[in-house]
Amino acid sequence: MPKFFIKTYGCQMNERDSEQVAHSLVARGYERVGHEAEADVVLLNTCSVRDMADQKALGKMGMLGRLAKERPHVVFGFLGCMAQARGGSLLKDLPHVDLVVGTQKFHRVAEYVDELVVKKTARPSGITDPSYRRMDDLRVSIVDIEKEAGSQSTIRNQQLTPTQATAFVSIMQGCNMHCTFCIVPQTRGAERSRSIDEIVAEVRDLVSRGVKEVTLLGQIVNLYGRHEFPKIDNKSAFVRLLESVHEVEGLERLRFTSPHPIGFRDDLIDAISRLPKLAEHVHLPLQSGSNRILKAMHRAYTAEKYLELVQRIRLARNGVAITTDIIVGFPGETDDDYRQTRDLVEDIQFDNAFVFRYSPRRDTPAAEMPDQIDENVKEERNQDLLEVVNTSNRRILQRLVGTQVEVLCEGPSKTNRARLMGRTRTNKIVVFPPSQKRRPSGEIEELVGELVNVRIERANGFSLYGMPRLE
Ligand code: SF4
Repeated sequence: MPKFFIKTYGCQMNERDSEQVAHSLVARGYERVGHEAEADVVLLNTCSVRDMADQKALGKMGMLGRLAKERPHVVFGFLGCMAQARGGSLLKDLPHVDLVVGTQKFHRVAEYVDELVVKKTARPSGITDPSYRRMDDLRVSIVDIEKEAGSQSTIRNQQLTPTQATAFVSIMQGCNMHCTFCIVPQTRGAERSRSIDEIVAEVRDLVSRGVKEVTLLGQIVNLYGRHEFPKIDNKSAFVRLLESVHEVEGLERLRFTSPHPIGFRDDLIDAISRLPKLAEHVHLPLQSGSNRILKAMHRAYTAEKYLELVQRIRLARNGVAITTDIIVGFPGETDDDYRQTRDLVEDIQFDNAFVFRYSPRRDTPAAEMPDQIDENVKEERNQDLLEVVNTSNRRILQRLVGTQVEVLCEGPSKTNRARLMGRTRTNKIVVFPPSQKRRPSGEIEELVGELVNVRIERANGFSLYGMPRLE
């Protein structure tokens, strides 16, 4: 059967969409491989959130043109956000591309791939050369970037590895917030949510296959279901979803990302304080500490409200980690605006933050705003803010040295395959030696996929290092 390779750019939503595509190809008998050179189908699942992400995927596909010449039967496809934004125009500069599929059509990819594989390998009778490619088929390509009602419910299957203990669950698609810097509402469409029953059924199935931690995914995850499902007993659809997933027996940890600050109402703060499976980590995008810039970004909160929210979350759950996203160099950001962001970041002491230099995106209001900031200024602010964030991150990690933390072991460490890695409930990476645990029966048990208590011995960079405490 044909082999496929899929490369994913961008966020966790994209990772999840790629897994759905992989699942549907495997279900049709395709084999997944780890390198494009071995594949008969090469798919790039793209991201459009920053210009650099667009350029990376375009550059990669450009380089694959050589492979297309050497192996003309291979099917090449762009999926996801950039495919949605650029559509058929992608075929003009990259003629070896056969497939362009947008964000509401991931569930159709396997069917399109099947069709293209047949077309590109079909040979007229008498021709036996396996690399033959019909000239008229060179013009055959499939572009599907249409909207599809109900597409939010199509991201629901995934392949799991035998020891996989964590999984993402897509609960909604799209976003109606229209932040002025963001292209997502155009590439992902309007907000659409799956039903609570459907999501709980998926979580139950994952847990029955060994998953212990799920992360609920959405572009504005805590505004889940606001258009479809009414509040009941003053609880939003999102809080009711958290409660229902929390009840799944065997689930140990529950996470969600990415929320919007305006979706943190009293019912959600209350849920954070009373649902013990909710992990002690909230990713809370700040974007800017200047009210003037927040307004220009179309973020409907102030720096004061954000700070108050952080304090309420910290009061609701002891030891909760708070991480964030910040954009520096948004159009019109003065030194004073930047200083306000820096002061707020110092004040809050985030566990970690993703700091981005503002990158104009086509067809977004911010790209047209006057007073675009010089790249050198953006870079200076970026470096300066990273230093503030890294200092609080180091301080917080250092405080964990000498303590014992619960780690969900995910597998070998990426930087040292001889060691294992996992995450704490506060989402800190912990690296530890691959000791084995003995069951009461005397049998040796591997730690991968298990919850392990680890005594932290040192902190270095963004990771903690320790020794497992095995009974
Ligand atoms: S909330 Fe704003 S930044 Fe987040 S996806 Fe929606 S428009 Fe983009």
